[in-house]
Amino acid sequence: MDSRAPVSPEMLESGMEVGRKPEDRFRWLVDVAQRDLGDTPDADLNALRWQMAAFAASVRKDFAPEPGIDPLMGSRYAPMVRRLHGELVRIFSELRTSQRFTLPEPIIDGAVWAPNMYLAPVNTRSLEQRFFGGVVAVLMAVGEKLRVCENAACRGFFLSRRRKKFCGRTCAQRVRTARFRDSHRDQVRAWKHQAYVRKRRAQTGNPRLKVARRPRGNRKSDGGV
Ligand SMILES: [Zn+2]
Repeated sequence: MDSRAPVSPEMLESGMEVGRKPEDRFRWLVDVAQRDLGDTPDADLNALRWQMAAFAASVRKDFAPEPGIDPLMGSRYAPMVRRLHGELVRIFSELRTSQRFTLPEPIIDGAVWAPNMYLAPVNTRSLEQRFFGGVVAVLMAVGEKLRVCENAACRGFFLSRRRKKFCGRTCAQRVRTARFRDSHRDQVRAWKHQAYVRKRRAQTGNPRLKVARRPRGNRKSDGGV
């Protein structure tokens, strides 16, 4: 009855890299979406290809390949790796900017129940269907903890149970430093202006003299005041 091919060592090893828990699978997805495959030669996509296959197959505990993931099994896997990667980048981008995303095709045929373990959607028609079914399942499982980093230069996804604003210490520190520098810069400019006003009032003998703040960069025409 079981006509599936035996699990390859690549598949098992990649399955462990992708992980089984939704949190681990989420981190793998985010890592993949952050990669730029533009300059990556096809020959260097082999590891990612096996990880994608394991991700799509891992509704099963043993990562055994099932019908549907064939496009990653043959020698011409590179276009499919790039297609899945491109869609994943788009999905995360849409989720970040509009809090929703669309899928390239419908994903669910039904559901499978492993008693005492999990209930998971079944996707049997195509690789894309299985892969994006896995993406949706992972995002639904971690949805409550999903956060976007408030560092504008990062905007990366991360998971937290609390109201954390940043994906990690590096981003938190960067934003704190930038804010401190900004407020410090304003303070220094205000102090300099106040000193200049005092000086002008002393020079002119007019204690009510108002001195407008000039845009920066015009000071050279000041005549050494
Ligand atoms: Zn960040």
